[in-house]
Amino acid sequence: MKVWVLGSGSSGNAILLESGNSRVLIDAGFPHTVLASRLATIGVAVQSIDAVILTHEHLDHARGACTSAKKWGWSLLATRGTVRECAELSAIPVHTFDSNSSFAVGDFSIEAVHISHDAADPVAIVATASGSGVRSAIAYDVGCVTHALRRALARVDILVLEANHDEEMLQYGPYPPSVRQRISGSRGHLSNREAGELARDCAHRGLSHLALAHISKECNLPGVALATVRDHLAGSRVSGSKVRVCAQDAVTGPFQASGKTASEQLLLGV
Ligand SMILES: [Zn+2]
Ligand SMILES: [Zn+2]
Repeated sequence: MKVWVLGSGSSGNAILLESGNSRVLIDAGFPHTVLASRLATIGVAVQSIDAVILTHEHLDHARGACTSAKKWGWSLLATRGTVRECAELSAIPVHTFDSNSSFAVGDFSIEAVHISHDAADPVAIVATASGSGVRSAIAYDVGCVTHALRRALARVDILVLEANHDEEMLQYGPYPPSVRQRISGSRGHLSNREAGELARDCAHRGLSHLALAHISKECNLPGVALATVRDHLAGSRVSGSKVRVCAQDAVTGPFQASGKTASEQLLLGV
């Protein structure tokens, strides 16, 4: 499986998963023209995308979904709550799914895990490639880490994880108190420290890539996010060299993992 982060942050989020003949986007939070140009930089034709799975209705995740789906024939999938909150989505065909459910899309088996965020019914996504068994997870816009989320993210091969803000930079940054509270609250976003703790909890030798996403431009720096998460991983089964920061305005990746044989899994302790 290959994973490209086409861009991640408050200006837009879109992640491409590829396995076999299937190409699925998680979120389409950029205008369709930007999505097309980012896909073009990695040689992917827009018409080759099978489907978009939306994690929630916020514009930085859903902005380009309807136009792209209509223009290029992409299937759209979202929870009922997401469809209800997004006027554009109610006007076109959308395959709805329940949070905390599993379903198939092309070559992928998808697990949608309900997360805590100030949206109608937001989810994290775990995608398993049917051929190789490789698992990738995308967890951003996460206000607090639940037992269900921690369990879902364990044993994945590629993890795209939010490291939104540095707690001190948020406290002394430009936002008014109400916005600071929203971001740091239980329905807001994960800080670097929280991302580090979660990464440490999920660390196992089979984790090939940890991609830090949704980095705040106002209250974080790529180097700070990277250092904080690497500090938390010190002494764990995951080397800090496996951690990378995703860009907002450019493609990061591909992150790639291939299936492991049973004996390799035994050796890795996965
Ligand atoms: Zn959001
Ligand atoms: Zn977001």
